[in-house]
Amino acid sequence: MVRVIINGKEVDAPEGKPLMDFLREIGEHVPGFCYTGELEPYGSCRLCLVKTQRGVTTSCTLRPMEGLSVETLTDEVVSMRKTALELILSDHYGDCIGPCQEGCPAHSDVQGYLALIAMGKYHEAVKLMKEKYILPAVLGRVCPAFCEDACRRNLVEEPLAIRQLKRFAADYDLEHGPWMPEIPPSTGKRVAVVGGGPAGLACAYYLRTMGHEVTIFEAMPELGGMMRYGIPPYRLPRDVLDKDIATVINTGIEVRTNTALGRDITLEELREKYDAVFLGVGAWRSRKMGIPGEDLDGVMHGIEFLRKVNMGEKVELGERVIVVGGGNTAMDVARTALRLGAKVTVVYRRSRAEMPANEREVEEAEEEGVEFLFLTNPVKILGDGRVEEVELIRMKLGEPDASGRRRPIPIEGSNFRVKADNVILAIGQYCDEEFLKSLGIEAKRGKALVDEITLQTSIEGVFAGGDLVLGPSTVIESIATGRRAAIMIDLYLKGKLEKAKAVLTEPVKHVKDVVEDEDLYRVLFDLRPYNHWKKVTEKDYEHVERKPRAKVKLLDPEKRRRSFEEVEPALTEEQVLKEAERCMSCGCMEVFRCKLREYATLYDAKQDAFEGEQNKFELDESHPWITLDNNKCVLCGQCINFTHEVAGEGVVDYLFRGFKTMISPPLGEKLGDMDGRFIGELIDICPVGAITEKLPFIKPGPWKTKAVPTVCNGCSFACEMNIEVYDGILVRASSRADSWNLHLCDYCRFGRPWAEDLAQPLLNGEPVSWEEAKKFLAEKSYALILTPELTNEEIVFFKEFAERKGIPIGAMVEEGLSTATFEDIRKAKRVLLKADVEKFPLLKILLKGKEIVEEGYDVAVLEAPAQPLDVPTLILHEGVNAAGLLRAGIKGIPQSDAYVVIGRPKGELKGEVLVLPAGLWAEKAGTVTNAFNMELKVGRAREGFSPVELFQ
Ligand code: FAD
Repeated sequence: MVRVIINGKEVDAPEGKPLMDFLREIGEHVPGFCYTGELEPYGSCRLCLVKTQRGVTTSCTLRPMEGLSVETLTDEVVSMRKTALELILSDHYGDCIGPCQEGCPAHSDVQGYLALIAMGKYHEAVKLMKEKYILPAVLGRVCPAFCEDACRRNLVEEPLAIRQLKRFAADYDLEHGPWMPEIPPSTGKRVAVVGGGPAGLACAYYLRTMGHEVTIFEAMPELGGMMRYGIPPYRLPRDVLDKDIATVINTGIEVRTNTALGRDITLEELREKYDAVFLGVGAWRSRKMGIPGEDLDGVMHGIEFLRKVNMGEKVELGERVIVVGGGNTAMDVARTALRLGAKVTVVYRRSRAEMPANEREVEEAEEEGVEFLFLTNPVKILGDGRVEEVELIRMKLGEPDASGRRRPIPIEGSNFRVKADNVILAIGQYCDEEFLKSLGIEAKRGKALVDEITLQTSIEGVFAGGDLVLGPSTVIESIATGRRAAIMIDLYLKGKLEKAKAVLTEPVKHVKDVVEDEDLYRVLFDLRPYNHWKKVTEKDYEHVERKPRAKVKLLDPEKRRRSFEEVEPALTEEQVLKEAERCMSCGCMEVFRCKLREYATLYDAKQDAFEGEQNKFELDESHPWITLDNNKCVLCGQCINFTHEVAGEGVVDYLFRGFKTMISPPLGEKLGDMDGRFIGELIDICPVGAITEKLPFIKPGPWKTKAVPTVCNGCSFACEMNIEVYDGILVRASSRADSWNLHLCDYCRFGRPWAEDLAQPLLNGEPVSWEEAKKFLAEKSYALILTPELTNEEIVFFKEFAERKGIPIGAMVEEGLSTATFEDIRKAKRVLLKADVEKFPLLKILLKGKEIVEEGYDVAVLEAPAQPLDVPTLILHEGVNAAGLLRAGIKGIPQSDAYVVIGRPKGELKGEVLVLPAGLWAEKAGTVTNAFNMELKVGRAREGFSPVELFQ
């Protein structure tokens, strides 16, 4: 041990190992790609830099020495790490996430939920959506689908029907008992949410999921805001809205409707009684035209008109209705007025191309019979107390204005008049500035002023979101701000708001704070993650198969112009599954594990800090289980070191030199040509997404998996590993740095024995029902035969069961218990090997560098059946828990006319044989005893069937 100073603190450090290992052991943040601890470091990635008395140096190549003083996060170190990252990023070609996710204002994991939908996992898809937004059934109907605008299929033929896919999953979820989040115990903090529109509902929901107590104060009789009082039911049926809102409120949110801030309750009262306040009161003021006649009877404003109709109030409409405006509100007004029996003309001052309304809305309005007068504007409304005529003027388009659209200019002398009974103005909304000012909240240009990052208003502890802050926006944008506000309120309640703001403003100045504080880490990765982008054009997708987008046939226009029935039907399930498969899975499969993305986020590295030529390599897809993408490779060399030095397989090497260097099998070969038993290890070793697994699913996700520590059941090594699980999906196996074996063979990884079992019982080799199996158990007298597919705890259970019932018990297991420990094998130099290395691939790694001899050996490695020799002997079995059975004294086959085998039998049995599944390995918990006699823990990755249940 030597005395060293780490970030000003004196500590004892071991001399022998790299400083980087020690720093990580004591919890210091040290990034790095190229060193794992298994082999000698060489410091090529330059990320593990630290400052010492002698200057800045790589900590993987430095060893602790007496008096060494180290600083891990000085400005200089941080800046040099950032530069190293930016150099790496300058030649990294790939997308971290799909453009759909970036396009979504809530940045929801579109690729992830589409993959779940493609697998028919609709509840799971909704659960994933709800990480970032609420009300998926509403959004599945009314969202403008920014994700679809961003979809890369636009470069192929048409974007994916993401909104419709969402709708299907969300409707399924509502129908089959909606997924509900788990609410943690109360934090004791109380938050008042004013306004029950999408922004308020989202803020309330996400605060609830953090354990805060929430009350919504809503001025109107019902929740929903503009979704209920603006959007007409033919686009958003009210039962869907009600059910979607119920999934929010049923998380335990208190609701006070008919309670308006400013009328029934004051802001002071709320601030006194609650720990924070969120304002999501929307933008409910209608813009006026400022023309003569605007106050005549029969003139209305769009949202007032819709509110009345949507509340079931009687609205007197004449025969001829003029609707002024070109946005979505104007379309809703026109189509609603049409449904009330009027003849409707929309007057819009620009041309059709400039209309802000969704194309879809305009088309549907036209189909229903709404007429349009483009390049026309009202100048006067005429009538004697009541509207009779409207004077209009023709317009032409001039230069583009601030909005980028061409400015409409009146054509002098082009005035003309049309008869009208009503004029409905739908030319824009804004928030009630006077009201805000009366609360003491600053507002400008029809919006509440908030801090852009924290959404805090000019009053401390009062936050705002939705249309109130954005101006008239959309449901998804309002939800996104509601969620952001919830995150900020949570940080405010924890006293971390200012720090979080500083982190989100300049992450690189706060690396230490972020790595030391879970909340700051979470908020940085949630709201400001690094995302790398490929620059692509249609040319890049020339080879992609053209597949038409799923379409629905809308309700017949004749039928819909007289009813408020939903216009757009859902896709069928068949269409949904096919459509989801059109997703090109643009995002990286390793996005949740990529170290490069993690470091780039922490150090705020920029993709284009160093411009220059970029390599564009062809993907190597030749291997059945993995893909090699050199475009993403950072040349850390870990895969090469592993395959040469550890596995001794030499699967990949550096090819070419300088800028063109790539990782590859020998020249002329593809990965698929390579012979290796540890090729899958390259996936775990690769710190970026250059080597990825081809998962056996229709769509591979990726999903943010949970690593459940367990052991492999492939053979009696029982290698420690993780099963990576996402919401019950057994995604893949991965190796564990803390395991005795360190590495996993390809059989365990890709053969997935841990996800396999018999589908159902077999009677004399034929599948039978569970009822028949139970009948056999109840009626027959049988001997019980165990297999090594059982845990030690299951073995004990069956042994006791058999003893209690007087049932003969035996096992399908070969003889032979080891006398060698893992240490014996590790230390041995000369080995007698009488086992098939192909069957037990880990032997390749364990015996690397040892002499295989027939005589004069220090240890023996044998394959069962076998007896230990006079040196430490490792006896290997095919079944994972053979040693467990042998140690429990269960072996041999008793005489019987009938047998019940638990697990897959090896060999024949005479008589009637009922074979029962042993249960999926991934669903078991307990212990096994491996060939080294180590007792190892089996972790349950998900709930499932256990054969024990049948005998209880
Ligand atoms: P709102 O939805 O306006 O909710 C504000 C809530 O606050 C209301 O419930 C209101 O009653 C309440 N409130 C107001 N003042 C007080 C007070 N003093 N005290 C208590 N409560 C108060 N978006 C889409 O994405 N797709 C569409 O197809 C679409 N169509 C639209 C059609 C129309 C006609 C309109 C007007 C909007 C449409 N939008 C659409 C926009 C979308 O509805 C809004 O952007 C969204 O509802 C704004 O959410 P919010 O929570 O900020 O405000």
